Amino acid sequence: MGRKVDDWHQYSGAIHIHTTESDGTKPLEDVVKIGRKADLDFMMFADHMTLSNRERGGEGFYGDTLVVIGYEHNDEADTHHYLLFDSPRVYPANMSAAEYVAAGAADGALGIMAHPDEIRDTLEEFPPYPWHDWSVEGYTGLEVWNQMSEWMERLTRWNKLPMAFSPRKSMVGPTDRILKKWDELNMEGRFVGIAGVDAHEFQIKLGPFTVPVFPYKVHFHSLRTHILLREPISREFTQARDQLYQALRDCRVFFSNMRWGSADGFSFYARNDDGTATSGEDLSVAGGAQLRASVPHESTMRVIHNGKQVVSVEGTELNHAVTDPGIYRLECWRNGRGWIFSNHIRLI
Ligand SMILES: [Zn+2]
Ligand SMILES: [Zn+2]
Repeated sequence: MGRKVDDWHQYSGAIHIHTTESDGTKPLEDVVKIGRKADLDFMMFADHMTLSNRERGGEGFYGDTLVVIGYEHNDEADTHHYLLFDSPRVYPANMSAAEYVAAGAADGALGIMAHPDEIRDTLEEFPPYPWHDWSVEGYTGLEVWNQMSEWMERLTRWNKLPMAFSPRKSMVGPTDRILKKWDELNMEGRFVGIAGVDAHEFQIKLGPFTVPVFPYKVHFHSLRTHILLREPISREFTQARDQLYQALRDCRVFFSNMRWGSADGFSFYARNDDGTATSGEDLSVAGGAQLRASVPHESTMRVIHNGKQVVSVEGTELNHAVTDPGIYRLECWRNGRGWIFSNHIRLI
């Protein structure tokens, strides 16, 4: 499982998966089977307001696939959806967003704002569930890209049918709004960005037909979140789980849309005379440093420094000398479609 590229072992997984324990349409074991067939190194489940799959012992290694289980909290207005992993329990349903974010932080849980910038308004039957209260404190990061949100935002009464039959084609990328917000947050602190599949395998009605939208299998070949470790992941469950959670807390992460090619082998790091640093790591830029990227397919590679693009290169290799401190991340685009997005490297 996984692969070593340069100084890091990388593992590719799916985050934000629902099962029949809430509004998904398949039980945990069936979804895991589909994930294993898709060669997922890890799967992170999050049903609405329940840890029942975890309580009955559903976590563990299934073959080579690491399965961890958290849950998705929402407030009484059904906004502020929040993915909580490593929390000891499900928090009370009457808490405000500020309260459950703080409760998770106090318990050492990992908390990720789910689909924070959902704005869809084209179809009444699919209302948006956005994040409004940005004053909350104690979250680990945000779902910069959510597969169901983007799909539904592009959905109209007229394109329902083609959108249902080839759901991955319509994906473009995270919104400029949320990328800007993510950059701003990281100039103040450290907030991981992930891609969530939000997999349910919903059944939608199209006239006389009922069609599954985004089968689990299709989700698992689309948005992936990849973690980076200096050591290989343990084969012992609790150690492996902690390595996964720590990589997310540290932002040693990139995410990709597999529809435009596998991101296996992707690398982005900074180098100076003393060593290397990838996303989530720090390196001194005093005396200069080199940013390097290598991608498995031709793409447009854009380096973003403190929220602003500083260079754009076509190809598969990037070498860029830097002298300014700050946060640097890389975006790779293919034919106008977002493909790979790294988290930030900090040059100090
Ligand atoms: Zn949600
Ligand atoms: Zn969800």
